[in-house]
Amino acid sequence: MTNTHTNSALLAPDTWSGRVFTGTWVAPRGGTTTDVEPATGKALAEIGMANPEDIAASSLHAAEQQRAWAERTHVERAGILLDAAELIGRHWTELREWIMRETGGVAAKADLELHDAQQRLRQAAAMVYQPSGGILPTEQSERLSYAQRLPVGVVGVISPFNFPLVLSMRSVAPALAVGNSVVLKPDIRTPVSGGILIARVLEEAGLPAGVLHVVPGKGSEAGAALVDDDHVGVVSFTGSTAVGRKIGEATGAKLKRALLELGGKNPLVVLDDADVEAAASAGAWGNFFHQGQICMATGRHLVHESIADDYIDALTSKANQMRVGDPFQDDTVEVGPIIDAKQRDNVDSIVQDTIRAGARATTGTRYDDLFYQPTVLADVDPGMAAYEEEIFGPVAAVTTFANDEEAIQLANDTPYGLKAAVHGGSLAHGIAVGDRLHAGGVHVNEPTVGDEATVPFAAAKASGHGAIGGPANVEEFTRWQWITQRRTPTGSQVGGG
Ligand code: NAP
Repeated sequence: MTNTHTNSALLAPDTWSGRVFTGTWVAPRGGTTTDVEPATGKALAEIGMANPEDIAASSLHAAEQQRAWAERTHVERAGILLDAAELIGRHWTELREWIMRETGGVAAKADLELHDAQQRLRQAAAMVYQPSGGILPTEQSERLSYAQRLPVGVVGVISPFNFPLVLSMRSVAPALAVGNSVVLKPDIRTPVSGGILIARVLEEAGLPAGVLHVVPGKGSEAGAALVDDDHVGVVSFTGSTAVGRKIGEATGAKLKRALLELGGKNPLVVLDDADVEAAASAGAWGNFFHQGQICMATGRHLVHESIADDYIDALTSKANQMRVGDPFQDDTVEVGPIIDAKQRDNVDSIVQDTIRAGARATTGTRYDDLFYQPTVLADVDPGMAAYEEEIFGPVAAVTTFANDEEAIQLANDTPYGLKAAVHGGSLAHGIAVGDRLHAGGVHVNEPTVGDEATVPFAAAKASGHGAIGGPANVEEFTRWQWITQRRTPTGSQVGGG
């Protein structure tokens, strides 16, 4: 589709400043906080903050509105989602500016988020045209036996700061499509891109009031209250493994489902016969794009010892060529700011610990305010911080191996299992190694970073469980119901349990 642009503002703050979205824009009990631009420290907006009481009210209201929403025809539900996708297209320039300034990302990253959000809405709209069950064989005569997928009720969505629009929309759109209502708590560092933007496009597209609530608030208070609320049937959480574990425990105790998409330490394996320049390009992009603040970022560069020097030289040269600064002010910038000082300090402490433990920095390791220079660490061994921990910053950790067996062992030597990539001189060589990597996504001759609305974005081990996107969405956002019917009443059935 061609996006037709408009000048009228979708995100004019007078609509939503200091408020949360409950079907209309209301002042929450939790007060307000300031949304800050990481590149400049300037205030972008005042944001309404929900407290646990606001969350309880929203969850109840969402539950009350859900049935009427599910009873809308599939054509009506799909139409609203498709209109929302169109609205993103019409307000592209305005929305891109918000995403760039609030997340500190380059224009290409903001465009990618907007494009992907449109695809998630369209994919969700297409879901409702699929059959939602089927007739089942039965051993009993005169009985009609069928099963159908029903909405779970209220879906609670909690999302992080790095790709806030996509990571909220990938749950909100399919959950709404199949007839759920949704309560969304975005990260308070990116509440507009991860929440208010979504509320505004769906409000304008005609979503009935109360079917979507957008309630920024502190994770430990508002987020925890959402997870705990008895009206919420499924929690779709994207964020760190540490918080994911807490949510898994809380939902386990309540016997409710949690879809957990968590951290990663994704290996890029560069085999002895790989094209070094192409592999280093994949490594640089997969490690430095959006300052490395991506769950799929290349967390370890595992490189055959015979080509390691060439690979490190190529990666270092690419890191040195990257311009660091405010991408909103300068469109030649490729690496913007880290989201906040806490995250930057964590990145720097991993870098300094790793150097103290014996690794060699070939470039970077310096920062100015929130701007961290792309950094390459060579001679990174197991046990060092940059080998073990998710960095979430523009820092490449390079480890060498002697043969394919050792590469596989190193690649799987992590509690995480989100993504893995292999570069080899032939597809067969790449596949032979890739087939043995334990991850939710394995990419041969590609970077570790990649996702599309059509694919099941899956996780293994401490990277979470469940999958989101494409064919996985029906499973995640609906539940089975088995139905039998007969004209003549009967007192017994076969089968038991
Ligand atoms: P985080 O601290 O886990 O925060 C994520 C969200 O959870 C935020 O909205 C946060 O609220 C909320 N939260 C915090 N504590 C909570 C609690 N006790 N109960 C309920 N919600 C709570 O994540 P982060 O460190 O900001 O984000 C980066 C992490 O996300 C990385 O580990 C990255 O790999 C992971 N991630 C994973 C994926 C994936 O698809 N697998 C995608 C992107 C990012 P606040 O607003 O208060 O912070």
